[in-house]
Amino acid sequence: MELSQFKYIKFTTSCNVENACYSAGLCAERTAISKAVSEGHKSFKAIAIASDLEDRFISPCGACRQFMREFGSQWDVYMSKSDGSYKLMTVEELLPSSFGPDDLRARENH
Ligand SMILES: [Zn+2]
Repeated sequence: MELSQFKYIKFTTSCNVENACYSAGLCAERTAISKAVSEGHKSFKAIAIASDLEDRFISPCGACRQFMREFGSQWDVYMSKSDGSYKLMTVEELLPSSFGPDDLRARENH
């Protein structure tokens, strides 16, 4: 995907929001999506995740994968290493056979 193909590009940056009670913290991915949603954006084309990892690509945790899935399964997730190289996968590839909003609507229609 080339960014130039989009008429409107909105970038949101974020960071981990850590908490002394670890489970109350929030990963940068969910922080970025929450920030975008709070600004009125609910449709995403891609998210890029960066870290200082040198030996492998950063990968979103399970909670973030499910959080991303709420906004569709066919958008791109760029996972990078500190040297700038990256791996590209869709939300669907990261969370196959997932449960999402459509599953709730299907249940309501029965
Ligand atoms: Zn996470």
